Amino acid sequence: MTGSWATPAPTEVKRPGWDEYFMLLAEQAAKRGTCSRLQVGAVVVQNNRVVGTGYNGAPQNIPHCEHYEDAPCEISVHAEVNALLYARFDEGAWGPTKMYCTHMPCFECSKLILNTPITIVYYREWYGRNAGHDLLSTGGVHIVRVP
Ligand SMILES: [Zn+2]
Ligand SMILES: [Zn+2]
Repeated sequence: MTGSWATPAPTEVKRPGWDEYFMLLAEQAAKRGTCSRLQVGAVVVQNNRVVGTGYNGAPQNIPHCEHYEDAPCEISVHAEVNALLYARFDEGAWGPTKMYCTHMPCFECSKLILNTPITIVYYREWYGRNAGHDLLSTGGVHIVRVP
């Protein structure tokens, strides 16, 4: 009786952890980016819920930027800024407020991040020129690279 009636072992569900999950969402947001030079996405998270998302692109009613050489983008609003503009921060959040970025935020975005409740920034790709790593760190924001 035992063999065939034994409860089968549950099928294990493979699923991403929280950090991987939110980074995947940031990468999906990046796919909406309109800058032909680089697509960037950002997600703001409180209590393991998304409270804001953004991707980079020209401001509303302005034509998408086009690049014919590897010059810095002049017109795009960065993903982090868009995520912050549309974020609805919950004052009663029990955990740290986090931002997941496909790329290390630049210096300008980092200044803005420091003036929000965000205390942890996760990123995947290094943003070479003008990265805000040192500024964030000096301002007390914890930085974690998601491999
Ligand atoms: Zn551009
Ligand atoms: Zn930026």
